[in-house]
Amino acid sequence: MRASPARRTEVLGVPLTCFPSHEDAAAAIVRRIREHKKTFCIAINPEKVCLARKDRPFGDLVRRGHVHICDGMGAALAVRLIQGWRIPRITGVGLFLQLVATAEQEGLKIYLLGAKPQINEKACAVLREQHPNLLIAGRHHGYFEDASAVVEHINDTGADMLFAALGSPRQERWLDEHLDAIQAPFCMGVGGSFDVLAGHVKRAPEFFQRTGTEFLYRLLREPWRWRRQSVLLAFGLKVLVNAFATRGPKALVSSRLIRKVYTHAERESSVGRK
Ligand code: UDP
Repeated sequence: MRASPARRTEVLGVPLTCFPSHEDAAAAIVRRIREHKKTFCIAINPEKVCLARKDRPFGDLVRRGHVHICDGMGAALAVRLIQGWRIPRITGVGLFLQLVATAEQEGLKIYLLGAKPQINEKACAVLREQHPNLLIAGRHHGYFEDASAVVEHINDTGADMLFAALGSPRQERWLDEHLDAIQAPFCMGVGGSFDVLAGHVKRAPEFFQRTGTEFLYRLLREPWRWRRQSVLLAFGLKVLVNAFATRGPKALVSSRLIRKVYTHAERESSVGRK
């Protein structure tokens, strides 16, 4: 498996690793695992960028991560405005499913930590059915008291990839706190992915996924989350200010639009010259 190179950048001081596709991200991660490089992968979205700016220890934690995927549409748009790069979103749940498929092909062992006991069990059963050769080294629900016993269990299984579905930012804090003790070379927080796999929570319909507006769908289904999502507005404003300061007015007009206007003007003037 070869990976196309990833570009690194920052959004409001938070690092981002821009991969061309989910497959490239998975290939880069597998290469790091094979090279025995410890890899803490964090999915970056506007909520996490805002929290990292507001809460210094969380910001430091995020910067300690090794791979920062562009999970949110807001983060992808921010890169487009600030850097002028068009990059795809690499969603947390999408990368998780891609890594599971890659783990099956490459014979890597996975560990599923988190969610309610029945959900964790069901998510494993679904993965076993979808990937008959997948090596699930172990699993544990996410409602435990003794963290060191869980870390010991993860280490005993010899897992290569640890997926923690404990909700955000809890999972990132937990992984960061235990990173040195965890022997699995790769770990990543996957939020509510086990609930989706187990069929307990529905993924947003295709339209919302395609347009990167899952947050709107989630807001409609779970309106009590409005406070969590109200940070999006503050994020948008800060990105606009930052983009304007870095690239001037052209940051706010898409390059395609500039090209269209330019080509149109060229055509008009050549018609006028005839
Ligand atoms: N969860 C857990 N232990 C806890 C709290 C939450 O395992 O102490 C699980 C919860 O059961 C759910 C997931 O973490 O499966 C959180 O999902 P949510 O959709 O809230 O996470 P988000 O995607 O918003 O980070």
